[in-house]
Amino acid sequence: MKYKLTKKQKKMRNRIIIAIALLAVTAVTLHFVEVPWWAELVLYMIPYAIAGYDVLKTAFINLIHGQIFDEKFLMMVATAGAIATGEYPEATFVMLFYQIGELFQSIAVGRSRKSIAKLMDIRPDSATVIRDGAEIEVSPDEVEVGEMIIVKPGEKIPLDGVIIEGESSVNQAALTGESAPVDKALSDNVISGTLNLTGVIKIRTTSTFGQSTVSKILELVENASDKKAKVENFITKFARFYTPAVVIAALLLGVVPPLFLGIGSWDIWKEWLIRACVFLVVSCPCALVVSVPLSFFGGIGGASKDGILIKGAGYMEVLAKIDTVVFDKTGTLTKGVFAVDDVHPNLVSKAELLDIAACCESFSSHPVAQSIVRAHEGHIDKSLIGEVTEIAGKGVKAVVEGKTYYCGNGQLMEMCGADWHDCHLTGTIIHIAREEVGGCEYLGHIVINDQIKEDSEEAIKSLKSVGVKRLVMLTGDKKSVAENVAGKLGLTGFFAELLPADKVSKVEELLKNGKGKLAFVGDGINDAPVLMRADCGIAMGAMGSDAAIESADVVLMDDKPSKIADSIKIARKTMRIVWENIIFALGVKAIILVLGALGIANMWLAVFGDVGVLIIAILNAMRCMRRLNRE
Ligand code: ADP
Ligand code: MG
Repeated sequence: MKYKLTKKQKKMRNRIIIAIALLAVTAVTLHFVEVPWWAELVLYMIPYAIAGYDVLKTAFINLIHGQIFDEKFLMMVATAGAIATGEYPEATFVMLFYQIGELFQSIAVGRSRKSIAKLMDIRPDSATVIRDGAEIEVSPDEVEVGEMIIVKPGEKIPLDGVIIEGESSVNQAALTGESAPVDKALSDNVISGTLNLTGVIKIRTTSTFGQSTVSKILELVENASDKKAKVENFITKFARFYTPAVVIAALLLGVVPPLFLGIGSWDIWKEWLIRACVFLVVSCPCALVVSVPLSFFGGIGGASKDGILIKGAGYMEVLAKIDTVVFDKTGTLTKGVFAVDDVHPNLVSKAELLDIAACCESFSSHPVAQSIVRAHEGHIDKSLIGEVTEIAGKGVKAVVEGKTYYCGNGQLMEMCGADWHDCHLTGTIIHIAREEVGGCEYLGHIVINDQIKEDSEEAIKSLKSVGVKRLVMLTGDKKSVAENVAGKLGLTGFFAELLPADKVSKVEELLKNGKGKLAFVGDGINDAPVLMRADCGIAMGAMGSDAAIESADVVLMDDKPSKIADSIKIARKTMRIVWENIIFALGVKAIILVLGALGIANMWLAVFGDVGVLIIAILNAMRCMRRLNRE
């Protein structure tokens, strides 16, 4: 990725070059020409001022406002000390290197911003809406739900919606990291922020811009840096105590020993003053203060390129420690697209039973419901449908043409008291009963079957290979179905026939028995309570489900469960880099601090201990931005 320097950065670069040139000329000249000390001072102060006037100015202003213990203050005091002891070139060099470090840091931050901004590129600028037969271009927030928009090839799809005319392939890479285009045809859903590639499509919008996927994702990414990691908070607090402590230590180092060793000797004073300056320069905590947040920022940005949205640095820490992953079945490990295998009616005809079921389900967003509606094919007259109540984990109760129906699993049948029976076929069985005066009458059942996602087996394998010990599936579905899926995938455990509340208590049980952190992975449909309860809630298939984006901590943009292991890997890599930087920076500084106090380290080593460490830490932190499979 190419990065262009900003105006401010260019100016800084030029100042650095000029100061280095002047410093070199001065040093060479003074090597050959003898001048009085004051002339030497003046000559060296020119590059010093060019390099550091803004640092001095800010340090001064802060000093007046009583905020002394920042890095600029450290630089001012240290260089002033060096000048006082006659170390003019050293003073200039400290200032120069400090500025080089600052420039470096600003470029690094700019680069990682840019990688996030690339994601921000998904924001559409305009929408072409059809009003009164004319195409007009408006801002996406002016389009209402249910309006018709037209998207030409090469344009971004501005709002979520359904295709009502035309077909095209759509590039969803900005959201999912998956570069292969996806074909979309009549009545397919399309997601805002994706790119229309080949055909002209007419879309009926299903959400406003504010509610659309693109806005939710942007909001999520923009807020990610607010949720700080524990290490980040620790570093901030640490710096607040550390800097004044070092200043005091330096002061003591500069003043106390000479009082005992020779109060009247300038040479002794000078010696200890230099040691104090070395102490001050090396102690600057900027390597940590800069590199730790930069690592997290980079990690979150890098993950987003793979379609993994992590809502904050804090969740990186949690992800890295996960040893239990709990899955929801439908829509997470399985496709959630059920095919109707058979219809077994009682008292009514097959067509009638499917008709009733489809009417009952026509308002539900549950995968089961949508499959039944899809299987029905014919038109559903929604005016015939009265009150509909969803009974989470069981099914729906609906009034159709004045009659009350129950449509759901065995538990729902128990609830309404119908004389039901199970089916001999394997699969998810949806039973239907009608309320009559004397009690509920059983009308039969529909056998539906889901398929395991192609990616699920791979996902379980890679989770095992990154050391996740417990892989548990929770489902509201029948035991036989659950057993089948769990066995095929090689999960370590499963629990079936659970209501949403049971899922929460199961997760609580697993939380109690586990050592590491627990992640719950769900599709976001009626999983919100569990997603919140887990240490880390991971939602699948954000492409469409609002609940997923809102209640989860990590959102996987495509429906691939293998991204769970990828997120853990990214988090671990980020945490490793963070700790590498912390240990490296503190270690090098501790050594140079001791050497400085003993008078072994000079100003040059101190500069390395400050700026050198900063630059190395920044370069290391920038590795977080790289995508996993590109390494
Ligand atoms: P999962 O844990 O597999 O995601 P849910 O808790 O969402 O499943 O649902 C559990 C069971 O409840 C489903 O397998 C189904 O039998 C029944 N069910 C839930 N919602 C509906 C619905 N809208 N229509 C019919 N059955 C439903
Ligand atoms: Mg579910």
